[in-house]
Amino acid sequence: MGLCSASAVVSHTMRMSNSSKLVSLITDHYGLVKVMARGARRPLSKYGATLEPVTLIDCIYYYKNTRDIQTLSHAEIIESFSDLKADIQLFSIASCMVEIAQSHTAPDDPSAGTFALLVESLDGLKKSSRMDADKHLWQFMLRFLAAAGYCPAFDKCLKCGKKPRGKSVFLSYPDGGVICSCTDPGDRFGIRVSPGSLRFMNDLMTSEVEDLARLKMGRAQRAEIEHLTLQFPSYHTGYSRPPRSLAFLRRIMAEKKK
Ligand SMILES: [Zn+2]
Repeated sequence: MGLCSASAVVSHTMRMSNSSKLVSLITDHYGLVKVMARGARRPLSKYGATLEPVTLIDCIYYYKNTRDIQTLSHAEIIESFSDLKADIQLFSIASCMVEIAQSHTAPDDPSAGTFALLVESLDGLKKSSRMDADKHLWQFMLRFLAAAGYCPAFDKCLKCGKKPRGKSVFLSYPDGGVICSCTDPGDRFGIRVSPGSLRFMNDLMTSEVEDLARLKMGRAQRAEIEHLTLQFPSYHTGYSRPPRSLAFLRRIMAEKKK
């Protein structure tokens, strides 16, 4: 048994007894780590608010490779994202990012890509207005796909290399990019996408987080992009359930429109 230290985003917690919590962590170098936090549910626990979901922490835990759940020894907050937690809409988007990151992070994964992208995206969302919050989610989804090696190419046809034209272009999931009218997509799995949405997604992929407010998105594009960014990763990872926090976010938006 050895001591491990990590930076991590708390992704999920579950009550394990009257005094203990099971905590899932998306770590910087060890992938998804589950730890038991003994005493964390007691009123005067040393952990305080440290183990709330969507919190960036530094932690130390005892690691044993023969068990799935490790034992937390120490945790302290680096960033509580309190601005996100104070706004239900921003918080549900943040929760959605964390949920997607958790569902696609394997235990003992040494790649820090997911952790770094998640922290950068939460930081960007923290500074955004409610109006632009969705764009942060879609940008996160697309960059997450790219980091996972399923980089969709939006700006040119995979077959002929030309800029896609026409009313709609076929986005092929297995090929990871668009196919223009030069080739019959046949029975490939994919979706028809409007050129406007393609351009928008390309802009999302290439824009800095602080420039997202300048990108304009219509209602139809929004639906198209949401559908695509959820279905594309499902195709590659086999994880088909939409994030629960996304369903919650949709309910909040629907209530606001009433
Ligand atoms: Zn083509």
